[in-house]
Amino acid sequence: LGSSLRGTLDDLRGKSRLEEDDIQEVVKQIQRSLLEADVEVDLVMELSDSIKGRALDEEPPGGTSARDHVLKIVYEELVELVGDSTELPLESQTILLAGLQGSGKTTTAAKMAWWFAKKGLRPAIIQTDTFRPGAYDQAKQMAGNAEVDFYGDPDSDDPVQIARDGLEETEQAEVHIVDTAGRHALEEELIAEIEEIDSVVDPDTRLLVLDAAIGQGAKEQAQRFEEAIGVEGVAITKLDGTAKGGGALTAVNETDSSIAFLGTGETVQDIERFEPNSFISRLLGMGDLKQLSERVERAMEETGAEDDDWDPESMLEGSFTLKDMQKQMETMNKMGPLDQVMDMIPGMGGGMMDQLPDDAMDVTQERMREFNVIMDSMTDHELEEPRSISASQVERIARGSGTNTERVNELLEQHKMMDRTLNQFQGMGDGDMQRMMKK
Ligand code: GDP
Ligand code: MG
Repeated sequence: LGSSLRGTLDDLRGKSRLEEDDIQEVVKQIQRSLLEADVEVDLVMELSDSIKGRALDEEPPGGTSARDHVLKIVYEELVELVGDSTELPLESQTILLAGLQGSGKTTTAAKMAWWFAKKGLRPAIIQTDTFRPGAYDQAKQMAGNAEVDFYGDPDSDDPVQIARDGLEETEQAEVHIVDTAGRHALEEELIAEIEEIDSVVDPDTRLLVLDAAIGQGAKEQAQRFEEAIGVEGVAITKLDGTAKGGGALTAVNETDSSIAFLGTGETVQDIERFEPNSFISRLLGMGDLKQLSERVERAMEETGAEDDDWDPESMLEGSFTLKDMQKQMETMNKMGPLDQVMDMIPGMGGGMMDQLPDDAMDVTQERMREFNVIMDSMTDHELEEPRSISASQVERIARGSGTNTERVNELLEQHKMMDRTLNQFQGMGDGDMQRMMKK
C-alpha cells in the first residue's frame, strides 16, 4: 500500500544517510506499490534495481534528508520511464486510435476532438467500426456532444472504404481522428483490418487506447499493435475509477512511446493531457499534494501568517509568464489593487505608484474569468512565452476560446503592461526592493 511506502519513507525523515537495510525496505515498498498499480513484474524489477543502485551509489546532496533523496531518485526513474506527454502539435494532422473493444476508443475520439476544438482547431471524427452494433450511433452522438464534424456509414461493412471516404468527406477539418473497431481478443482479423486502415489513412500519430484496469495484459496488447502499425502514444481511460493505470507504463516501455491523454470520465470534457508529476504521485499512492497544501494553508491561517500566494520576490525574478499573471491576478483580486498593496509596504507609499499607468494592475473578476477561458486555449509554450504568439496563433486561440482576436490581444497587452511595470520595480535596484518586499 502507498501508505506503507509513505510510512517507510517517513521513518527515514530524521536520517541523513541511507543504510543498505533502509534502501532494501524502501525498494520493497515501492515494488509493492507498483505491482498494486498493475505495473508489469519485469518492469518493476528493472525499476527497483536501478533505484537501489542509485540510492546506494549517490550521496544525498548537503542539507537533503535521506528520505527526500530516495524519493527524488524514485521520481526521476519513473519520469525517465514515462517521459513527457506525447507531442501533438496544434496543426492539421491525422490520428488513428487502436485498442481492444471497450477500452474507450470512441469516447477518447470524441474527447480528443473536443480538446482540439477548444484549442481552436477544427476536428472531425471518422468512425470505421462496422463490427459493434450501435457503434455508428454512439460515435455520432458523442461527436454531437463535442460539437465536431463526423463521418460514418451505418450501412457499410467495409471499414477501409469508410476511412477513405471519411477523409474526403471531412476535408474541411484540420484534425482527423479515426476511430476503429476492437474485438474481445487480439484476433488476426482485427490486426489485418487495422493494418489496412493504417495504410489508407497514413496517420501522423497512432494512439493505443488502454483501459486503466488493463493490468498485466497491457504487454501483449502493446506488442501486437506495435508490430502491426507502430504506436506513437498511449491514451489511458477510466482513471476516474480505482485503477491506477500502471499498465500504461508497460505499454510505453514496450512501444518506446509516451502517454498522450488521460480519460477521467464519460463525458467529452473528461480529458486531461498527460502530466508526469501527478500521474506518478497517483501511481505510488503519494498523490495527496493538494491535501498537503490545503493543510499548510489552514495552519497558516491559524497562526495568522501572511498569505503566501502572492510572492513579490518571484514576481521580480526571471521572466513573467502568462501563468504568473494568472496567479497574480487571482491574488490581487483577493487583496485589492496593487497600488493599495504597495501603499501598505513601508517606504513604498505615494509617489512611486503615480508613475505607473492607472490600469496597469486593474483586473476585475469578470475580466479574469475571460482571461482564464482564453488561456485554456493556449499551449504551455504560449503561456510561457506570450511574446512569441503570432497573429495566426491569436486567431486560433480566439476561435478555440469562443472569443475574438481583440480580446486575445487585450490579454496580451495586459501581460505586457504588467511585465513592464514589474521590470520598472526591478530596475529600482540594489536589492532594496527585494528586501522591502520580502516581509
Ligand atoms: P471502445 O469500444 O474502445 O470504442 O470503447 P467506448 O468508447 O465505447 O467505451 C466503453 C465504455 O467505457 C463506455 O461505456 C464508456 O462510457 C466508458 N468509458 C470510456 N472512457 C471512460 C472514462 O474515462 N471513464 C469512465 N468512467 N468511463 C469511460
Ligand atoms: Mg468504439
